[in-house]
Amino acid sequence: ETATAPSGTSVSAEEADKHRRGLMLVLSSPSGAGKSTIARLLLEKEDNLSLSISVTTRPRRSSEVDGVHYHFIDKARFEQMKAHDELLEWAEVHGNYYATPRGPVETSLDNGQDVLFDIDIQGTFQLYDKMRDDVVSIFILPPSIAEMKSRLRRRAEDTDDVILRRLKTAVGEMRHWSKYDYVVVNDDLERAYDSVRAILRAERHKQHRSPAIAPLIDGMVRDLQSELDG
Ligand code: 5GP
Repeated sequence: ETATAPSGTSVSAEEADKHRRGLMLVLSSPSGAGKSTIARLLLEKEDNLSLSISVTTRPRRSSEVDGVHYHFIDKARFEQMKAHDELLEWAEVHGNYYATPRGPVETSLDNGQDVLFDIDIQGTFQLYDKMRDDVVSIFILPPSIAEMKSRLRRRAEDTDDVILRRLKTAVGEMRHWSKYDYVVVNDDLERAYDSVRAILRAERHKQHRSPAIAPLIDGMVRDLQSELDG
């Protein structure tokens, strides 16, 4: 007689995903590598993923909305948040402060929701120090420096000075590409997006994110074993 499947314990894929801890997906790239387009597509198309909205002391650009792109704050408020340990990480970029508020991120992760971060390399390394198991980092590379420059020049709002500054930052950041978990070259948007999505989907199944599922699996093994022994 063949053993029938044990019926005592069961687990659905949906349930397994619900018991999972959320992950922190960090996308970094030099300006002009197409990171923001990939981020926008992810947020539009992927379930269970929201953007961490940073605080910044940088003046708002005309195209930006407070509370959507950033929370625009003054220096005093930034210092206060820092002093009260309300920031997961912070950095000074081009003379302005940028930081990730802690509360919303912790709530999301605890609820099994994934969070997307558009932060620079300094911030990424701080997240490594604090929450390495939760972070999945991807470095997006432009296919060439020429292409990166031309993408930067096509951006209407930036002056030559700003472009030069961004290129200097880019050199510094690109030196550290190997400290990211994944590297994706963005020569074709569709393809780069597909790769980023595949990384996200696979990372969701890392077993260390689902400690709550261990007792369920153990239960199934026990059921089957006792049936076989029985
Ligand atoms: P922008 O002023 O163009 O919006 O952003 C400038 C740089 O600051 C970008 O490289 C962006 O990734 C980075 N950035 C934005 N928010 C944060 C943040 O909360 N933390 C850190 N470390 N960098 C950030």
